[in-house]
Amino acid sequence: MKIVDVETITFKYKSRIGFDIAGHAHPAEEHTAYQTLTRIVTDEGIDGYCFGGDKRINERIIKPAIVGMNPLDRERIWQYLYRDLQGSRQLISSEQLAVIDMALWDFAGRYFNAPVCKLLGGYRDKVKAYASTMVGDEIEGGLNSPEAYAEFAEDLVKSGYKAIKLHTWFPPIKWAPNPEMDMAACRAVREAVGDDVTLMLDCYHCYNREEALRIGREIENLNFYWLEEPMDENNISAYIWLADKLEIPILAPETAEGKIWVRLNWILNGAADIIRGGVMRMGGITPLMKLVHICEAFGVRLELHGAHPGNLQVLGAMGIPGEYVERGLLHPLLDYESRTPWLKEIIDPMDSEGYVYIPQKPGLGMEINWSFIEENRVEVDDGK
Ligand code: MG
Repeated sequence: MKIVDVETITFKYKSRIGFDIAGHAHPAEEHTAYQTLTRIVTDEGIDGYCFGGDKRINERIIKPAIVGMNPLDRERIWQYLYRDLQGSRQLISSEQLAVIDMALWDFAGRYFNAPVCKLLGGYRDKVKAYASTMVGDEIEGGLNSPEAYAEFAEDLVKSGYKAIKLHTWFPPIKWAPNPEMDMAACRAVREAVGDDVTLMLDCYHCYNREEALRIGREIENLNFYWLEEPMDENNISAYIWLADKLEIPILAPETAEGKIWVRLNWILNGAADIIRGGVMRMGGITPLMKLVHICEAFGVRLELHGAHPGNLQVLGAMGIPGEYVERGLLHPLLDYESRTPWLKEIIDPMDSEGYVYIPQKPGLGMEINWSFIEENRVEVDDGK
């Protein structure tokens, strides 16, 4: 059995999500956007798929690296791409590595006719969801005030969410970040939804120690469930300082590089109470499962970042919390459910009790809408 080709399919779709100069997603006028699909072709007549992947990197590095290898040798392929080819590490991003690893897991699932979570070792079929808001904005009808967050939170509770995480205001908004506004939004939301809804705050590494401590103490009083990534994650000593002072669990590191090794250091130093991981920053399901086991060994919680199909499969195989799947990013002016027209059904439907079910179809569990992709396929040379 061997890999015979790595293809990158590019197609266009209509999007109503735009990005500001800090990379934050917001509602936007409808426009054409592009999506890629990486396909690992094998001589078994069964292929593996994962959305994403840079065409140039697939062509220039990934294809020559893995053609001829056994598609079930995921560990060997991961170590080869990450460790042995580390001179190209700036080109092979964590996301690129993740897409290749997940396409290989998707192949394995299709080959053995089982969802990836069962190949990993199934543990559960459903996970609690939390609604994850977009960051704040200055848009009419948007998330432009503490009251707007409160109204949106009420709507989210009506639509079945039992837990909500706020992302508040960040640059390039001129007056952001602003601890007073963040705390006002947290107070408004708690007041609007009452005590039975679980709330979290994500400060997106914007604050210094004193600001983070002040915000942390305020949301402790508001009975929030965790404080996420309030400071620059390169500064582990600031996190050790903060975690020592606050009762509320600190969730991090999310954006820090360094995969399992950096997260192990955070655990050993007591810099966070809940560790953050996810397929995209860890470089796939293969390394994320190692983080699951590290956290299990140390008795530390692990929460996954985003509702990626790969994260859902890992959540289905985790014997420890991940307690939640992150559903989002959500905004009052946008419909979350219609965002992936390239799939026949969304990957993370939520029931009225606030649970998402782990997809049980073979592989990553995606039902790819091939007619949509073929109708919208574009030929590009620049790897968009
Ligand atoms: Mg976050």
